[in-house]
Amino acid sequence: MLGPVILAASRSDKMRRFVSAAPGTKQVVDRFIAGETVDQVIPIVKDAAAKGLEVTLDVVGEDITTVEQSHAARDAYLELIGRLEALGLGERAEMSVKLSMFGQALEGGHELALANVRPVVEAAAAIGTTVTLDAEDHTTLDSMFAIHEELRKDFPQTGCVIQAYLFRTEDDARRLAAAGSRVRIVKGAYKEPASVAYQDKAEIDKAFVRIVRILMAGEGYPMIGSHDPRLIAITQELARQAGRKPEEYEFQMLYGIRSEEHVRLAAEGHRMRVYTAYGTDWYGYFMRRLAEKPANLLFFARSILTK
Ligand code: FAD
Repeated sequence: MLGPVILAASRSDKMRRFVSAAPGTKQVVDRFIAGETVDQVIPIVKDAAAKGLEVTLDVVGEDITTVEQSHAARDAYLELIGRLEALGLGERAEMSVKLSMFGQALEGGHELALANVRPVVEAAAAIGTTVTLDAEDHTTLDSMFAIHEELRKDFPQTGCVIQAYLFRTEDDARRLAAAGSRVRIVKGAYKEPASVAYQDKAEIDKAFVRIVRILMAGEGYPMIGSHDPRLIAITQELARQAGRKPEEYEFQMLYGIRSEEHVRLAAEGHRMRVYTAYGTDWYGYFMRRLAEKPANLLFFARSILTK
């Protein structure tokens, strides 16, 4: 019930101002956001490496409104990649990007986003790592997949994300699996209408399993982005049935969520990557994390009221 309300609030400027200014917000934000600067996130990458974990780094930001902000997004990722290279951490960390942070929704935004993401993908490849294009709301996906296809001509390791809640996704999974792509499958975090997406949790879970089966049987590299213990167990079984070795797929979870499970799966011999978001424009990302689990909202409300 609360999830859709919070997701609607995640796009409201008024709520953004209220939440950002509320006392007690920072304490809750810190659970999900690894820091505001590259300097703060680097020790987290090192710590993850020491625990046998890999990371994907996301500079938070989305729905920008000017071309300058698109250039700034590119520069923020290039700064990050430069630091990873200098510290020899390139192969431990990949990057995740949201194309709306690169101006995808502006006039001429498809071309702008492609032009500014390309140097990021190029720089990542130069230090031995790669970039995955996150999936945003369904209206952005045709453009995202087209940019993914374009980038893969020169950088075939570029990944993309598909969302189990969308009716279209099984077809996307078949196409991407045949093309040999790196594909992250997630349940989906946006507020989508019943005309394009399953609304029922059980239906979404069933679709997730069908899609994992397609990816495991295909030519690509499946990345399973979920904290759901049942889906993780099913994935392990589907990987076994498909004859995939542990290095032929990976699990991914979010920084701050089920952290003990990150370490447990890595210790079992699985490749585990922790999606680690950092930066100052955390509002949209943070609100989606609140929407996923109502208990987070209660915790947040309590921390505001007790400050
Ligand atoms: P759920 O059934 O939601 O959760 C299973 C269990 O995990 C819960 O019972 C709870 O214990 C724990 N849990 C889950 N979420 C939270 C939370 N916020 N706080 C506390 N505990 C929680 N979505 C997109 O739309 N596009 C993307 O590009 C995208 N990238 C992602 C990348 C990664 C690595 C991951 C893990 C998720 C990503 N998501 C993305 C979010 C995803 O769509 C889901 O919203 C999110 O993962 C919750 O679904 P779940 O599979 O964990 O299952």
